[in-house]
Amino acid sequence: MDHSQETLPPHVLIFPLPAQGHVNSMLKLAELLCLAGVHVTFLVSDHIHDRLLRHTDVHKRFEHYCQFRFQRISDGFPVESSRSGSDFLTELVDSLTVVKPLFRDLFVRSNRLSSKLNRPVTCIIADGVLSFAIDVAEEMGIPIIYFRTISACAFWAYFCIPQLIESGELPFKGNDLDVPIQSIPGMEAFLRRRDLPGICRVGDSSNHGLQFLSIETRATPRARAVILNTFEDLEGPILSHIRTQMPNVYTIGPLHAHLKTRLVATAPLTVPTSSNSIWEEDRSCMTWLDAQPSQSVIYVSFGSLTIITRPQLMEFWHGLVNSGKRFLWVIRPDLVTGGDAEGQIPTELLETTKERGYIVGWAPQEDVLNHEAIGSFLTHSGWNSTLESIIAGVPMICWPYFIDQQVNSRFVGEVWRLGMDIKDTCDRVIVETMIRDLMEVRKSDFVHSANRMAELARNAIGEGGSSYCNLDRLIEDLKLMSVQSRT
Ligand code: UDP
Repeated sequence: MDHSQETLPPHVLIFPLPAQGHVNSMLKLAELLCLAGVHVTFLVSDHIHDRLLRHTDVHKRFEHYCQFRFQRISDGFPVESSRSGSDFLTELVDSLTVVKPLFRDLFVRSNRLSSKLNRPVTCIIADGVLSFAIDVAEEMGIPIIYFRTISACAFWAYFCIPQLIESGELPFKGNDLDVPIQSIPGMEAFLRRRDLPGICRVGDSSNHGLQFLSIETRATPRARAVILNTFEDLEGPILSHIRTQMPNVYTIGPLHAHLKTRLVATAPLTVPTSSNSIWEEDRSCMTWLDAQPSQSVIYVSFGSLTIITRPQLMEFWHGLVNSGKRFLWVIRPDLVTGGDAEGQIPTELLETTKERGYIVGWAPQEDVLNHEAIGSFLTHSGWNSTLESIIAGVPMICWPYFIDQQVNSRFVGEVWRLGMDIKDTCDRVIVETMIRDLMEVRKSDFVHSANRMAELARNAIGEGGSSYCNLDRLIEDLKLMSVQSRT
């Protein structure tokens, strides 16, 4: 071994899927690794990189870390493709055939892709649905760790798709979505067909998207380990099942809060903000929130990929207005299919919205959820949103849209008791009733359980907590791989 090299830090290539939720959490991991002195190359699609440059201070933020750099790659999508909605998964699967050779090329062309400070890559941390990265890593002799940005429960549901097919539970026979599911160990007591990942409803087990998720998830044990943005007290029982298949699981979440904790520990006087939004944040809603009473506002957001129809928009809108509560609603410019969300809205809805509602195109969500005025969250149950709500101690009403969200919402409602799952309906009466239930009738129960879970989350990322120790273990393991790569 060249002993002069022994102290050289590891160089990690981080490669997320080109979608908001994935980039968001993997950039947080990148910053955590930078704080520990690790060299990081963040491989990101041109499209996402451009949007990050346009809407965040990400470059300024990462300037502090001279060992960090962005590397761009095509996402394989046609330039003007919408990159949202339920077709996103199918388009993504198709795009990966373009990305794979580009990814391989990066290594072949540039001799294991040296870092800004000239260190070759010593470990790849790839999004856990990019199994071609494992092929390339094996070819190049570079260790690879998977990062799965979804919950452990959704991951485990994907992992069990072959058992579901083998047992005859998939595809569904008949239309009853309330039939209990028995082939996912650890979920027999509460999982129904409707709580399976949305893609399981396709009615054909050879469906491209379903097979993609199943095959990619099954490839996980080929990686050295898997990183999950979760914490042991939240998903311990399901994590035990996962560990029977892949023993080395680093649970290091909730990552956004974990990063804040570590940044404050490094520079106690700073107030860390680290938006990774690919949409322009409208911060005027924070001023509006400042003027609202404590815990009086329901925050409504369906994340970055959900699209809804105009009738659905109207059901939510009536439900919100009829609940009598104040609301802050994120209506992305491309949220509503078939055009303009503002056109022909009944005057009484617009009037009430002016009085006690506020609509933005994109919100600084982490800040919003931590605002004193927020009392609940109507969410699509994306995993980042769920974690952000959990650590802010905000109870949820869940209206999942697709993929992992159907599983997350069942856990929120039935297992963690942190809110209510209204999946598959957005009828205005149900929306109104659930809001009243959550914010009035059963408010104290939900606030109590949300506060309890928030405390467990904070403990996990505090010094000595499970996520804190797992991150330290990950960093130590990266250092070890780096030393081994020079022997
Ligand atoms: N988000 C945000 N502003 C918004 C809506 C969402 O900053 O107005 C962020 C949110 O904080 C979360 C991410 O976008 O970190 C969405 O990720 P999630 O996994 O919840 O859902 P996805 O967009 O992947 O469906």
